Amino acid sequence: MPRAAEATARWLLGMANFQAHLTVGATVAGIAALAVNYHELANFNQAQGLFVLGVAGSLFPDIDVDDSKPVRGFFALLGLGLGLAAASALRQRFLIFELALIWVGIWLVVYFPLRMLFARLTVHRGIYHSLLMAATVAIFAVVAADRWLDFDPLLTWLVGGFVLLGYLTHLVLDEIASIDLAGKRIKRSFGTALKPLSLNAWPVSLLCLGLLGVGLWLAPDPAPLFHWLRNLGLPQLPQTLPAFFS
Ligand SMILES: [Zn+2]
Repeated sequence: MPRAAEATARWLLGMANFQAHLTVGATVAGIAALAVNYHELANFNQAQGLFVLGVAGSLFPDIDVDDSKPVRGFFALLGLGLGLAAASALRQRFLIFELALIWVGIWLVVYFPLRMLFARLTVHRGIYHSLLMAATVAIFAVVAADRWLDFDPLLTWLVGGFVLLGYLTHLVLDEIASIDLAGKRIKRSFGTALKPLSLNAWPVSLLCLGLLGVGLWLAPDPAPLFHWLRNLGLPQLPQTLPAFFS
C-alpha cells in the first residue's frame, strides 16, 4: 500500500476518539454551514449557529462513554446552564447570595448524582449509537428552535438537519474505525454504531420511538423543507408525505 494510503488508513483506525470526531465533525459542519450561507438560506450569524449545532451533534453520541472528559464537560455546562436559568427565574424572590447557592446546588446535583446515574443507565454504543436516536435528537432540536428561536420555517428545519448531519457523521466515523483497512479484517465493534435501533435494549428503543412520535407531532409544518428539497431536485420525497404531516 502506498505510504499516503497507509497513513490515511492508520488515521481512520485511530478515529474513534474525541479529537477525531471533533475534527471531522467540524469539517463536515463547516462545509455545510458555508453552503447554507452561500445559498442565502442563512445569514452569517445563523450559519455560525448551525455550524456549532453540527459540531455538537457530531460529539453528542459519545455521551454514553462513562466518565470521559467530554461527558464531564457536557454535564458541567448543563449544570451551569440549568442553574443560571433557575436563578434568573427566581431572581424576584431571593437575595443574590441565596441565588448563588441555588445555582451552585443545581450544578452539584447535575454534575455528580445525575451524571453518575446517567453513566449507570447507559451502555456505550447502545441506543445513543443508533439512527433512531439520531432522528429523535434532531427532531427535538427542530422543536426547540421552533419554540425559542426567531427563525423562518426552513431555517428551523435546517437546525435539525445540522444536528442530524453531525450525528450521522459521528456514527459513520465509528463504523469506519471498526473496519481494519490495513489488515482487511473487521473489528468486533463493527455494526454497533450505525444501526437503526438498539434491539438489545428494546424497551429503551420503544421509548425512543415514542419520543420521536411526540417530536414529530410537536414539530412545525415541514412543507417548507419538502418544497426546498424538491427545488434542489435531490431526494424526491413522495408527494403524500407533506400532506401526511400537515
Ligand atoms: Zn461513538
